[in-house]
Amino acid sequence: MVQNRGFIEDSTTKIDFMTRKQAELVYGGTYLSQMASIIIGTLFASVIFFWTSRNDVWIWLVIQISMSVGRIILFRFYRSHACNDTTTYNWLNFHFFAVMLSGIVWASGSIIYFKQDDPVVCFFIAMIIAGVVSGALPNLAPHFPSFCVFAAPMLLVFAVRNLVAGKVEFYVLAALTILFAGVLISSARFFNRILLDTFRLNIEKDSLVENLKLERTAAETANNAKSDFLAAMSHEIRTPLNGVLGMIGVLEGTPLSDQQRGYVKTIHLSANALLSLISNILDFSSIEAKKVVVTRLPFDPSAVCREVAELFDFTVKSKGLSLLLHIDSKFAGNFIGDANRIRQILINLVGNAVKFTEKGTIELKLQVQDENEDGVLFHFSVCDTGVGIPADKMPLLFNKFSQISESLKHRAQGSGLGLAICKGLVTILGGEIGVDSNISKGSCFWFKIRLAGSNQSEITSPATCVEMVPPVESGILDGLHVLVADDVELNRMIMVINLEKEGCRVDVAENGVEAAEMAMKSNYDIILMDCIMPQMDGYEATVKIRELELASNRHVPIIALTANAIVGEREKCIVAGMDDFLTKPFNIEEVLAAIRRWSKR
Ligand code: ADP
Repeated sequence: MVQNRGFIEDSTTKIDFMTRKQAELVYGGTYLSQMASIIIGTLFASVIFFWTSRNDVWIWLVIQISMSVGRIILFRFYRSHACNDTTTYNWLNFHFFAVMLSGIVWASGSIIYFKQDDPVVCFFIAMIIAGVVSGALPNLAPHFPSFCVFAAPMLLVFAVRNLVAGKVEFYVLAALTILFAGVLISSARFFNRILLDTFRLNIEKDSLVENLKLERTAAETANNAKSDFLAAMSHEIRTPLNGVLGMIGVLEGTPLSDQQRGYVKTIHLSANALLSLISNILDFSSIEAKKVVVTRLPFDPSAVCREVAELFDFTVKSKGLSLLLHIDSKFAGNFIGDANRIRQILINLVGNAVKFTEKGTIELKLQVQDENEDGVLFHFSVCDTGVGIPADKMPLLFNKFSQISESLKHRAQGSGLGLAICKGLVTILGGEIGVDSNISKGSCFWFKIRLAGSNQSEITSPATCVEMVPPVESGILDGLHVLVADDVELNRMIMVINLEKEGCRVDVAENGVEAAEMAMKSNYDIILMDCIMPQMDGYEATVKIRELELASNRHVPIIALTANAIVGEREKCIVAGMDDFLTKPFNIEEVLAAIRRWSKR
């Protein structure tokens, strides 16, 4: 780094920025400084005229005022001409020479009107010079050479004139002027350094911010790529897992010895654990990538709690525990929110409570904490009488992959992602989540979410958030004509075995083109449609079927069966015209239940 004419030469950008800043600052105060200069010049000329009666002082004043007007004109030129990098140096140089001329004009006044026989006049001149030079300091210090060429002529000439005057009082004045010059020049240097350092820091800060922005964009891109990779992998893993789980189901339905049944049960449990791990990873990556779509539809929070309690009824009882449900009846009815996400959080919390409790009770509570114009603040809590959590481990609980329990059995039952997912979802829903726990006494997980009252006209639901409203499960399977469209033979086989066992007549299609053609030829009671298939995918095939149906006024229920468990998939299926949505690996009971719901017989 080289210092040259007060500029810092480090890199081209820095020089340009510094020079531009210096020019801005030295030109910036032109109006004020030149008005002050005209006023002080007029005062100087009047007082000198009063003491010396010299008429030529008015000529000096005209030159001085012309100088100030000239500098104002220069400033206006500077401002009206776009100051680019190549001209900035020139503008700074023009200013440098203009300032030097001003300094010389002031210096000439101090010499011409110096009165050797009158120290009072000389003292007055000294005061005027001191005022003018000190006033110029803040304005000119950003460009140190300009300050020097302005101050030096005045101070030097005046000091020398005093020294040659040959009287003691003038020697004193000369000494004071030199002292003053030293102090002023070192102050200007100091001020100049601080300013240049500040500019440099500013440049560094700007480039740091720029770098951070670039790095953030790169990190976001990498994170999105990771999420897309996970989504794709999840699809790829789910497809064979569907085969594994489906075949286990088929195997369980065949005659087996007790030992074989035990093996099959173990395979089934492991496959389910793998499936839940994949689902958790997928959920977590969606939350991290901010790809979670939140629906805002009317729902009853107490009904969601009841559903979750019913879901765990069997597991709780089989473990010898009891599950108590407390619902604050103060606010019954519907509220606007995302029932599915709240259900998912509750399932996670109740699941953990069951997992970490060996005896006692689990309580699922829904309370109303407060109400304001934005809605009702609901407080959901899941308390257990289980192992509890050590105080020092509590801050880690909601971090990803944090498993606090020492028990290998418990560790094997989870992924350490459940609570991180809960926290992510609660945050997305605008709520708060926390835990209170006592080791060996139990834990109480809670979350609070504010939900607006359900005034149908105010519902702001994105177009894609259409809810599938299935009819009640009433149909019978025996004799139903079902089309199974799937490109994977194993999947088709599992479906055919299971449906035929229930008495259905089953046809199969290997891609969307075949599915659409077959759907038009036969009057199917239900179509099970895989989404990703070669030649024509399930979405396109559904659109085609719906278009062709327009002429015949028919509507065959189409149930999507997809390994794409990513957020937004359900909405995509509905937009294509499907009626229901199940993710692979499917539970055959769920598939049968869905068929029962949608079959019209
Ligand atoms: P996991 O799927 O492993 O259970 P979670 O994120 O759901 O992951 O939980 C993280 C850890 O928090 C668990 O491994 C366990 O140690 C602890 N934990 C969660 N819920 C409870 C609970 N109700 N009682 C005691 N410990 C719990």
